[in-house]
Amino acid sequence: MRKQRGVYSLRSTRARVLCCAALCGVALLLAACVRAVTVEPAGFSGSAYGQPPASGTSDMPGSPGASGAQPPYVVALDAGHGGFDTGADALVQELSVCEQTVDLLYALLDSDPNYFPLRTRPNGEDRSIKDRAQTANDGNAQLLLSIHANSDVTTQQSHGFECFPTPPGRTHSEGAMRFALYIADRMGSAGHRLRGGNGVRFAYYNGKEKQIVDSTDDKVRTQRSFGIVERPDCPAVLVEQCFLTNPDDVAQWTGEAGCARAARIYYEAICAYFGTQPAASAA
Ligand SMILES: [Zn+2]
Repeated sequence: MRKQRGVYSLRSTRARVLCCAALCGVALLLAACVRAVTVEPAGFSGSAYGQPPASGTSDMPGSPGASGAQPPYVVALDAGHGGFDTGADALVQELSVCEQTVDLLYALLDSDPNYFPLRTRPNGEDRSIKDRAQTANDGNAQLLLSIHANSDVTTQQSHGFECFPTPPGRTHSEGAMRFALYIADRMGSAGHRLRGGNGVRFAYYNGKEKQIVDSTDDKVRTQRSFGIVERPDCPAVLVEQCFLTNPDDVAQWTGEAGCARAARIYYEAICAYFGTQPAASAA
């Protein structure tokens, strides 16, 4: 078969320009593919169908601001319980604390142009952990906060705050630890008792048995932690806001005022994590 001369010789200027444009297009496409592969950790599949204006890269542990990611930052808010799954039922119901705090934090982030909050589930609906993590990943979340509250059926004395970042040895453990420390430091400054020394701990499952270790134990373990801190393609922290079996914790950290205090602390910790200036407190 005889080939057209023009196809290979690129004699005309126009053909040359077109070809350069095509080559540049291919190069850009290749570069985009290489980048997509390098930012996507093994074992997790990101989605190309995220709705939020995720302008930056996946979150890098350490310094999101310096990694080139630009606001608005996408922050996934996970109410730890919903629908039929009401969580602990003590002096107040865990579900109400989760949803109320998420609602208040959502409002704070939504009114700050640096953030794009994303719910992992609508209020009142059951969603599996897998689905909630997938919702965060589909929305290109750069940080995830899962809100729970503790209970101790054996004694009313147990009280205080603790949180669980993505554990050591995982892709996003460093960023998650930094976020966890920002939260716990602020909880401590607000007068909350920090459990486990600094309020940050790791949780692991041996079968169905849960093992909790303090954050000083940074040994890398193969046992899985909570699904909501293992599955997201970004740093994730699960907080236990207070003990719903302790009257003082309930007075301080639940209800409209208590959840608002906690939401403000989470908001300021998110701002510290991404290096933005928090909006002035309405209170
Ligand atoms: Zn819970």
